Amino acid sequence: MNASLSSNNSLENDLAFDIEAVRRDFPILSQSISGHPLVYLDNGASTQKPQCVIDTVSNYYENDNANVHRGIHELSQRATDRFEAARSTVRKFINAESDAEIIFTSGTTEAINLVAHSYGLGHLSKGDEVLISAMEHHSNIVPWQLLSQQMGLELKIIPITLAGELDYPAFLELLGPKTKLLAITQLSNALGSITPLKEMIDAAHAVNAKVLVDGAQAIAHTKVDVRALDCDFYAFSGHKIFSPTGIGILYGKRELLESMPPYQSGGDMIKVVSFSGTTFNELPYKFEAGTPNIAGSIGLAAGIDYVTKLGIENIAAHEHTVLEYATEKMLAIDGLRIIGTAKDKAGVLSFEIDGVHAADLGTLLDHQGVAVRVGHHCAMPVMEFFGVSSTTRASLALYNNTADIDALVTATVKAAEMLA
Ligand code: PLP
Repeated sequence: MNASLSSNNSLENDLAFDIEAVRRDFPILSQSISGHPLVYLDNGASTQKPQCVIDTVSNYYENDNANVHRGIHELSQRATDRFEAARSTVRKFINAESDAEIIFTSGTTEAINLVAHSYGLGHLSKGDEVLISAMEHHSNIVPWQLLSQQMGLELKIIPITLAGELDYPAFLELLGPKTKLLAITQLSNALGSITPLKEMIDAAHAVNAKVLVDGAQAIAHTKVDVRALDCDFYAFSGHKIFSPTGIGILYGKRELLESMPPYQSGGDMIKVVSFSGTTFNELPYKFEAGTPNIAGSIGLAAGIDYVTKLGIENIAAHEHTVLEYATEKMLAIDGLRIIGTAKDKAGVLSFEIDGVHAADLGTLLDHQGVAVRVGHHCAMPVMEFFGVSSTTRASLALYNNTADIDALVTATVKAAEMLA
């Protein structure tokens, strides 16, 4: 095994934040699993929550809980103020122009479904082409398949290379006058590949197509500026960025959202309801039918504040260092193949080991306190492309350090020996 990167201290001393203090912010990390200190490397599935997020949510329930937008009583006004302040925090974080462009959803999946239903049904017609890539999460495949079947659209797939990179020349060839929508991930959850987003958005706009970005994985690892990207829609989930589950965001350019019909209907999304007809509320409420996830949105703002305090660029640099360290250490293990070797990648190390079944490996890693994900990662077409049924995936977050990687390596070597 190459020891050139093994001096943990020299790697982590350069950090712009104190990694040990950061780790202490996440109470869940200090527990043991099967007698081993927990090493949490399943952040691509969901991230852990810092104490400030946990406190914010419980403080809301302890002090301010009420329904929003409806009551004139003090608690309802406080809840509404905190809910709307959370919207502004999200708006600033992704640099959207207006709070009206920030729609609270239950997560990335609902955000994508919202666009598929509302933009799709309102703006697409038979024969139009929707482009996605071969490295999408099922959440950014199945809504488009269903819509294509319902509306007679053509779903076209941008291929990927053996390194797991998007095949950019093939993308340019697929783009044409019939392309009406590009729905593309910013960071692949199965491979860690980062897509050349800005170039793709500009190329799509050149043929008058709109662009939806699936930012589920990217949001906690890279700076997102929706105005600099000029994307038309951007979707992400709170739970992937140290915030509660059940809350997510759809950003959409205002004029597009204005032009789209409601997605769901009910309370809060209306202005006037009568049996002779209903008028809809203004943005963003037109897309927020029913009582929203108030505590979740306030928790999301706390998660975003936490990330902002550390600095997303600092987080990205730290994770890059840990990923390089992990890549070198893991490649030194006999028979291990990394799946996803894109030049531009972040946060994810997917691998398989000759003769070792991923599910068995995952179980033995768990017995040693190491939490990874095994399976198809909701990206079955990626597995099919690489000719595997599953991989083992270690995915990083800001609190992972080289000691976590050392534990992963030791546990993997031991498990592979037992399973050989
Ligand atoms: N897109 C990508 C790239 C993902 O990794 C995920 C979740 O893992 C999703 C979409 C779906 O996110 P959620 O389940 O939070 O809606």
